[in-house]
Parts: sequence; structure tokens; C-alpha cells
Amino acid sequence: MNWLTNFVRPKIRALYTKKDVPDNLWHKCPNCEAMIFHRDLEENLHVCQHCGFHMRLDADKRLKMLFDDDDFQVIELPKAPIDPLRFRDQKRYTDRLKEAQAKTGKSDAIRVAHGKMGGIGTVIAAFDFGFMGGSMGIAVGEGLLAAARLAVLQEAPLVVVPSSGGARMQEGILSLMQMPRSTIAVQMVKEAGLPYIVVLTDPTTGGVTASFAMLGDLHIAEKGAQIGFAGARVIEDTIRETLPEGFQRSEYLMEHGMVDMVVHRKDLRETLIRVLDLLSRPGPSAEIVTLPKQEPEAVVAPTEAESIEDLTAEPTVAVTSDTPGAQPHSGETLEPATPGDRPER
Ligand SMILES: [Zn+2]
Repeated sequence: MNWLTNFVRPKIRALYTKKDVPDNLWHKCPNCEAMIFHRDLEENLHVCQHCGFHMRLDADKRLKMLFDDDDFQVIELPKAPIDPLRFRDQKRYTDRLKEAQAKTGKSDAIRVAHGKMGGIGTVIAAFDFGFMGGSMGIAVGEGLLAAARLAVLQEAPLVVVPSSGGARMQEGILSLMQMPRSTIAVQMVKEAGLPYIVVLTDPTTGGVTASFAMLGDLHIAEKGAQIGFAGARVIEDTIRETLPEGFQRSEYLMEHGMVDMVVHRKDLRETLIRVLDLLSRPGPSAEIVTLPKQEPEAVVAPTEAESIEDLTAEPTVAVTSDTPGAQPHSGETLEPATPGDRPER
């Protein structure tokens, strides 16, 4: 039997066991179902090269993509109380947290880093949808406050990149409390006169939309991102109407004035740098040129001095003739009413 166990069995096993090839070499686009080689996907910043679908990015990739050549530092966030409500559904909340931490290697759904963007010192807070749907609990609220404090301390603009399903239901009322808390964080940045920019990514919904994510000085949305408060299905069931196509998508929101810009991911960094440069530059870069002062009579005289009939008549006639409209005024005030000075109609 030795021959069988020592020689044949390993050979057979080797035939059937997986080769040492990573199974994530190919990705399937969730939109067009095309197969994309992982290297192409990395190069395209996780945007499908066939249909332009923007896949979700984790917080680390997001930070790497936005900052100048890895020139950033992730800060350690304050510890938040774990499971204060001792919540349990099918699983304990603490177990769910541990699972998410093991899966993502992060302590919670937010990462805060500071570094340079186009040479401008910037603080970025990015969400990780992979961590319990990027839901906002105490730890995330704490992270947003830390990011705001850091921005104020460094006198740097704050950029927040939400990707979240909303409040974390396992923390009940305490997660809802993060809405006013994050609003205060934003207020701190605004009171310090620093730019606060929100980059809305897929998805930004629920309590996140209802708080800090809609308070930006500027709202930039990634293409095709779902942005809204309640889910489309819930709204449809409530109002009993079919919603228009593209409802709650970036492009639809821009058409309706909720979003300032819709940007392709490849242009996001450049757009942000341009905006930050415009907002944080201390003064105008060009020399201020004073415009020559215009004599007020030149504009006022023709309308006041002439009657409606005179306006239609030849201006030379109006000045020289004894029409009643020209009578009450002296010749001086009427002088500028020459064809050259009259505003073009
Ligand atoms: Zn695709």
C-alpha cells in the first residue's frame, strides 16, 4: 500500500488541486459582463474599459489615487466604544464587526489621511463600502470629526469621499447621532474659512446623504453613482409611481441642481486639484486692472432728455429742433446724445 499512498495519491491530488494561480486575474464587469484583466482594471482605476462602468474603490485605493505619488499619511483614529447597545440580530454586532475587520484589515469604515494634492496640503476622509456597507456608526463619526480637526489644525482643505449605505443600524440612535456630529465637523471647517469638498461615489445614501455629504462647498459626483436618501424601490412603493430612468444617478442629480459636477474617475484628481487651487489660493494671480470711469451723463441723458418719439427720431434733429421733449433740458446734458454714445439696440 505504500506505493499507492506515497506515490499515486499525491500525483492524483496534484492533478485536482488548484494551481498556484491567483483566481482574481480576471474580473467581470457587473454592468456589461465583459471579462477584464486585473492589470487593465488597475490601470483604468477600476473603470470598465468597455462600458465605462465605475466600480467601487476601497478607501486605500481611493487615497492612493487622489494624493500625489503616495505622498500621504493615514492617521490613527480615536477609539470608539464597541457595541454600546449589545445589539444582536442573526449574529452579534461584535461578531459582525470582527468579521468585517478580518475581511478588510481596517478597524472601521473610514480612513483619514493627510498629504499633498497638486502640492496643496489636503486632508481626505474616504469611506470603505466593503466594511459593513460603509455604514456610519460612532467610529465613522469620530473619524469625520478627527478629519475636520486635522484640517483646521493644518489650515488645509477637507475632501470627503463617502461610499455608504447610511447609518449603521446596529448602533441604533447612536448612529443617527452621527448626523449632527458630522454636521458640526463640517461647520468647524467652514468657520475656519477652509474649503470643504464632497466627492460623491457609488453609493451615497441614507443618513450620510442627509448630513455631511450634502453640505459641501462643492459637490463632485463620479459618473453613474447612486446618490439619494431612500432607495428607489421604497419611493416607488410609497408614491405608487414609476420613477424616471436614471433616477438618483449622478447625471440626473446634476440636471436637477443637486450636484455641481459629474466627473469621470480618470479626471477626478485633476478636477479636485484645480478646484482646491482656485479655493485655497490667497489672492488673484493676475494684476488687478482698474477700468476707466464712464461719465454717468452719457447713459442717463438720452433716456431722460428725450421723449419716446425722439428716441425713434434722428438724434441730430432732437437736439437742434424745438421739440417739447428737448425743451426742459439745457444743451449740455443733451450733447452726449449723439449716435456714437447711444447704447446699441
Ligand atoms: Zn463594462
